This record gives sequence, C-alpha cells and structure tokens, in this order.
Amino acid sequence: MKLLRIFLVFIASLFIAIPMIAQETPALDLSGAGDSLYPDLGNSGYDVQHYTIRLQTPMNENTITAEAVITALATADLEQFNLDFSRLNIDSLSVNGEAAEFSRSGSELMILPPQPLAEGDTFEVVIAYHGTPSSSVNPSLGAALGWNYASRIVYVVSEPDGAQTWFPANDHPSDKATFTLEITVPEGFVVAANGVLEETVTRDGQTTFRWEMRQPMAAYLATVNIDRYIEFSGESPDGVPIRNYLPARYENFNDRVFGLQGEMLDYFASIFGEYPFDVYGAVVVDQSLGFALETQTISLFDNTIFVGDSENVVAHELAHQWFGDSVSLSDWSDIWLNEGFASYAEWLWLEYSRGVQSRDAAIADAYDFMSGRAFQEFGYSDREIRAELAYFGLTGEPNANDLFNAAVYYRGGLTLHALRLTVGDETFFEIIRAYADQYRYGNATTDDFFAIAEEMSGLNLGKFKQDWLYSLAIPPIPSMGLFPPNLD
Ligand SMILES: [Zn+2]
Repeated sequence: MKLLRIFLVFIASLFIAIPMIAQETPALDLSGAGDSLYPDLGNSGYDVQHYTIRLQTPMNENTITAEAVITALATADLEQFNLDFSRLNIDSLSVNGEAAEFSRSGSELMILPPQPLAEGDTFEVVIAYHGTPSSSVNPSLGAALGWNYASRIVYVVSEPDGAQTWFPANDHPSDKATFTLEITVPEGFVVAANGVLEETVTRDGQTTFRWEMRQPMAAYLATVNIDRYIEFSGESPDGVPIRNYLPARYENFNDRVFGLQGEMLDYFASIFGEYPFDVYGAVVVDQSLGFALETQTISLFDNTIFVGDSENVVAHELAHQWFGDSVSLSDWSDIWLNEGFASYAEWLWLEYSRGVQSRDAAIADAYDFMSGRAFQEFGYSDREIRAELAYFGLTGEPNANDLFNAAVYYRGGLTLHALRLTVGDETFFEIIRAYADQYRYGNATTDDFFAIAEEMSGLNLGKFKQDWLYSLAIPPIPSMGLFPPNLD
C-alpha cells in the first residue's frame, strides 16, 4: 500500500484526534485468528489450501453470481468452523459434498459440517452465492475496500479486510492459500487478476478468464479488475514475464510510467533474492483512489499514476512482492515489516538509479518529517510538534484505526537504514536476503526479523529494536548528521 497524499493526511491530523482503543489479547477462538489489532479477522481451527472462485458479473450493474470451492486442512477437531463473509446471499453450502447448516452474525459465517472434522482431515466447502457486493469503508484508509463497481469497471482493493466482501475467506494474512480465479464477463471486457492467465474462453457473448495464482497468497492480496484493458506483455532483462493492463485511453502511457519496471525487478532480485512469483505486472484502475496496492503479481495503481513522477510508487509496490506478499505478516501490528521495507526499497532504487546523494536526501527528508524538525521549519510551536509526534504513534505498534500511519512507512524505512549503518552493508543485505528466503511464501514477525539480524550480525539488537520501533522519541543518526530537534 502506498498512500499518495500522505502529506495531506498529516496536515489533517492537526484537527482530528483519534482516540486510542484499548487492546487486549483475545482468547483464541474459532471466529478470529488471534490478531492483536483486528481480533475478528480470520478464523482458527483450519488452514485453507486453495480457493477456486467462479464468478460472473454482467458489468451493466453491480451484481455477481459466484461459487467458491475452498479446500482446507483441519488443524483441530472441529464440530463447527467459521469463514469471514459479508452481506452477499448464500444459495447453497456444502461440506465434503453434503449440505451443511450455517448461520451468520455480522461478517462471521458459522458452518456446522454434517460430520465432525478431525485434526489432519482435508475438507472441501462449496458455497454458491449472489448479490450486490458492498465495499466496506476502513477507518485506516477512508477508502472503500473490497469489490468496487464504478461506471462499468470493477476493481478490488482489500487491505486489510475487504476480501470478505466478494468471497468467503479466512480473511487474515496468516492463512495463505493458492487461488484459481475464473471470472466471466460480457465479451469485450478484459479481466486482470492474480497469477498466470491460463485460459480465455468466449461462448455466447460471454468470456471466461481463468487466472491461476500458484504460490500462496493472503486473501487481501486477491484482486479482480475488469475494464476494456489493453495488455502489454514483455519481460525483465533477466527474463521474468511482465504483463501490464491499462485502460485503452491511456495506451500511450505504458512506457513512460512502467518502462523501468523490468530493470527495477532485476535490481531488487539482485539484492532481495530471486523474484518470488511466476509473473509480475501492473493494472491501472481508471479512478482517482489516492493509493496504490501491491496485489500479488499485479500491483494496482490508480489513474493519478499518470501524473508527475511516479517512479517511487512503482518501486514501492514492486518491492512489496517480496515484503508483504511472499513474506507476509503474522499480525497486522507488524505492518512496518511491509511498509517500512517497501519505503526503504524506494530509497534503495534511488541509490541504484541516481546515487547515494539522492538516497541520503530522501532519507534526511523522512527523518526531518518523523523527528518533527520539518514541523519546526514550518513554524509549529513545540507543543504542536509534540502533538504531531504523539499522533505518529509507535512504529512497531500502530493503532487499529490508523494502520497506514506515516510512521510505519518512514520511520520503518529509517529503522532499516539505521540497521544498515549499524551492521554494515554486507551483513545488512545478507540479513535482508536471509529474511526473504527463510520466510518465502510464509509469515513472519518483527521478532523473526530481528532474530535473523542478531544471528547474522552477532550483535544484541534489543535496545536498537526498542528505540526505533517501540519508543516515541526518534533516535539520532549521527553519521548522517540527523538529530531530533530540541523541544521545550
Ligand atoms: Zn506499501
């Protein structure tokens, strides 16, 4: 996720006080995955292996008719289990081929399998459903998440909890699965989704696109985008296939905006390790959304990507394919592992493409913003600056209502640069590669990352981690001449 108007957000923060919500660790129950920020997201007791979603939409109105086939492994003995699923009407539901009873409460779908499931059993749930998907406005983003329909286009952006608006899901990144997305639209429309487009079949004026996502994917990264797209196919210099989908009227913008994607991909592979997926590319939604999202193998951008210099956004979403998509969060409170890494990757791309001075200038800007020095230069009083710093909160522990706080991006990125300066370049990139490799296609926590960093550097990084991620006061970076301002 990359917020394109983060500066406006921080100005607006002067006028809005968002109350802290008391958090307590919930007891593990079937209706949640144990997330510290979003206890209701996801479910326990099973591990989804694969989703097949067959979905048809007429495109002249916002309705869908769909069937989800979910293959899962029971990780406990289950008399019942839950899925996350919002609002759509269920026509039928079966478990292992037998009709099953179910009930719904909010976005929790509770299912009673006809036969109890034993730990270790693989089981199949088939749910037929239809209706008008209604996207949900998440307070962290103020944007409509999930399945969105707007004047004959469809786009899906779901971080963190929008997946359940269009398919029944274990809607938490700790349960990743492979996906088949089989989407049927009127002939002439093009469907851009995750993975490899395996088959396109047109019959009776309807075209079905079958997309296969063969590496595990978190539900929020699943995307379906429908428009009259032009497809651009190519590959990176080292041979990773790239396909971009642009609305027809932006056909001529592909090279200018996405021309560096291949070179970026190969550069990131050289420092992070092999690109984790079969393909990469971009899809552009013909709307002004104010953010971009790292939907797996096909990053999603809005039409403001065509305005001004968007190289940093393109680099940011690409880097997320390693950090966020391949290595995913175990708990949403560790979001800096996604956003701090992607922000740092923007600076790494600057270092590679324009030199160390450009990188250091960007880092100094971020430091001045996060330390409050930039506010001082804008004439804020010390009291106002303290309020701003408190609003940023703790990088390693964001508020549930403010998941995409500037700190998880900028101070997260600064944390990585400070680590690099502490352990040295060679060890730093060994740490990054080991982290990407060890947790490839899996899930990691902040502690997992620091365990690797300590092992490879031989340093005790407990105080470093505490100071950078879990303290309000930002540490100095003396070797770059970066110090927090003195405040009364
Ligand atoms: Zn991001």
